[in-house]
Formats: sequence, structure tokens, C-alpha cells
Amino acid sequence: MSENTSAFYDIIIVGGGPIGLACALEAKQANLKYLILEKGCLVNSLYNYPQNMTFFSSSERLEIGDIPFVTTNPKPKRMEALEYYRRIQQKFELDTHLFEEVLDIKKNDNNFLVESNKRSYTAKKVIIATGFYDIPMLLDIPGEGLNKVRHYYNDPHYYSGQKVIVVGASNSSIDAALETFRKGAKVTLVIRGNEISPRVKYWVKPDIENRIAAGEIDVLYNSALTSITETNATIQTPTGIIEIENDFVLALTGYRPNFAFLRKIGIDIPNQAPCIPHHNEQTMETNIEGLYLAGVVCGGLNTHLWFIENSRIHAQQIIGHIQSTWD
Ligand SMILES: Cc1cc2nc3c(=O)[nH]c(=O)nc-3n(C[C@H](O)[C@H](O)[C@H](O)COP(=O)(O)OP(=O)(O)OC[C@H]3O[C@@H](n4cnc5c(N)ncnc54)[C@H](O)[C@@H]3O)c2cc1C
Repeated sequence: MSENTSAFYDIIIVGGGPIGLACALEAKQANLKYLILEKGCLVNSLYNYPQNMTFFSSSERLEIGDIPFVTTNPKPKRMEALEYYRRIQQKFELDTHLFEEVLDIKKNDNNFLVESNKRSYTAKKVIIATGFYDIPMLLDIPGEGLNKVRHYYNDPHYYSGQKVIVVGASNSSIDAALETFRKGAKVTLVIRGNEISPRVKYWVKPDIENRIAAGEIDVLYNSALTSITETNATIQTPTGIIEIENDFVLALTGYRPNFAFLRKIGIDIPNQAPCIPHHNEQTMETNIEGLYLAGVVCGGLNTHLWFIENSRIHAQQIIGHIQSTWD
């Protein structure tokens, strides 16, 4: 197809994550003409997870379209998940345009006009499965813009021999603290509350607790970073403000959906937290008829509400509703 031509689809799926793929599988099975538009690579969020990341879900809970996810590990690794979802996209020849970002969606009469950075499309229905991993929650403190401050963590080797502050108490922070410690970083965990999150993977929690008890990883509970410079970091603690030497800050304080995009395309979102985008929980249809939400984007700021394992069902709910209302 040449640039800027408008093609017609029954369904455009925005986002090529696990749930966007699940929607495509259902649409294909229902003989609907669909297209996935994904702004990055296939399963872009998973690709950008830490390299050695292990899922908390067992593999059968990450399955889509009843296709077995086989692994010999008790919990699958990121690399295996990339293999699994890529094989599904290839095997079922799911129609996918990668590195194509949807910029706007407008409803004209009964159809949607979908504008990407490359082309425009017309579709009868649109499914938004854009996740929440593109926008980090910021600390909003001086120095956050320095290159040494990272909101995504990839690989521990990079931090070997460095003084690293890890902010947060959830899975991402604890994984990063343990991995970088094991590659020779001097790690200080800065935690807003008074404990390691109870949601930390059950086989990882004793590990971090033992490293803290042994004095191998420092922890400051009930504390928050207040400023960062090239060489130091200032932290508000229960006993006052302290300043420590610091090379890197891993601010793994969570992510949030792209509310600006969702509002721009007309989805109602309350201003008050948890800012859950308006949708019918049975059909997943938003306040705009024919425009659906799928996957973890549905939770707004409640990013612990939806996972692959409990949101893959959205695909069946949406395609079932589309079929029941097809004219
Ligand atoms: C570190 C981590 C570990 C997790 N572990 C588990 C686990 O063990 N088990 C579990 O069930 N869940 C887990 N989750 C939660 C869940 O798996 C993920 O959030 C999952 O990726 C959600 O799938 P999704 O398809 O809804 O969204 P995503 O996978 O985030 O997919 C959304 C896609 O939309 C694309 N996109 C966004 N905006 C646009 C646009 N405008 N145009 C085109 N494309 C766009 C993005 O690039 C992305 O590829 C984890 C999450 C994180 C962050």
C-alpha cells in the first residue's frame, strides 16, 4: 500500500501487545478483516522489560487463543514470552503493521478514521490495547532529567562497581536491586512505605529480605528522594535529610496509560485517581459506540488490577459483542 492511502477494515486494533494479539486471533477466527497497528516492535512492552525478567505468572496463564505456551521453567522468562507471542503472530499470519503509531482516531457517521504516522485507515470498530508501559511515573524532583536517572532498567552489568539508588518496593525495583547488587553495585533501596511490597514474587521476597538483614543492600524505609546531582542524592528520611554519594538512580516507580491520547480520541476519563477510562465491563465498549478498550489500559492508574492472565478474556468479550451487533 502506498503512503497516505485509506484502507477499510472491520476492526483496527491499536497496540501489538499480548492482548492486541489475542484480539486479532479472535477477530481472525470470526472472519473479520482486522489490522494491528503497533508503534514499536511486536510485543513492544515485553521487549523493553529487563533482559533477565521472569514472569510472576506460570506460562499457561499467559496463553492466548488456547495455544500452549511450553516451557520447562516453573515461570517463563521474557525471552520465552517473546518467542511465544512472535510464533503466534507468524503462525497465524496476524495482519500487523509494526513501527506505525496511531496519532488520532475520529468517528464519522458509523465509521472510524484512524490516522497513523504513516497512513490513514477507515474501520467499523476500533480496539485500544495500548497498555501502560510507555509513560513512567515521575519523581518530579530537581535532577530527574539527568542522564544518570533511569525509569527503565535493562541489564545489571552496566551498573557494576557503581553506587546505585533504586527507588520503589515492587517487583521491578526489587529485581533491579538484587541483580545489580549481584553484579557488584553498591545498592541503596529508597522506599516510600515501611515494607517491601507484599506483591513481590514469593520466591524473590525472602532473597531481598535476607540481603537487607545481612547488610548487603541498604534500605531506607519511609523515605523519598528530594534532589539528585551528578555526584550525589538527597533523601528525606524519618530522622531528617541525608545526602549520599550516587552514580545512578533507577526510579522504578511505575507507569501509567497515555491519558492524553485516550482523551484526545474522546474516551471519558475521570480527573480523580484511579482515572479508569469509561468502559462497560461486560462488552469493554467505551462511551463511544464501536470503540473498545482491551488489556491493562482498562485499569487507569490501577496498574495492578489487570494482567495478561486476567485481561486476555477481553478479546472474547469484545469480538463476541461486535459479532452480536454486526449489521
Ligand atoms: C515488569 C512487568 C512484569 C509483568 N509481569 C506479568 C506477569 O508475570 N503476568 C501477567 O499476567 N502480567 C504481567 N505484567 C503485566 C502485563 O503483562 C503487561 O502489562 C502486558 O504487557 C499487558 O499487555 P497489553 O497487551 O494490555 O499491553 P502492552 O503489552 O503494554 O501492549 C501495548 C502495546 O501498545 C503499543 N502502543 C501504545 N500506544 C500506541 C499507539 N498510539 N499506536 C500504536 N501502538 C501503540 C505499545 O508499544 C505496546 O506494544 C507485567 C508488567 C510489567 C511492567
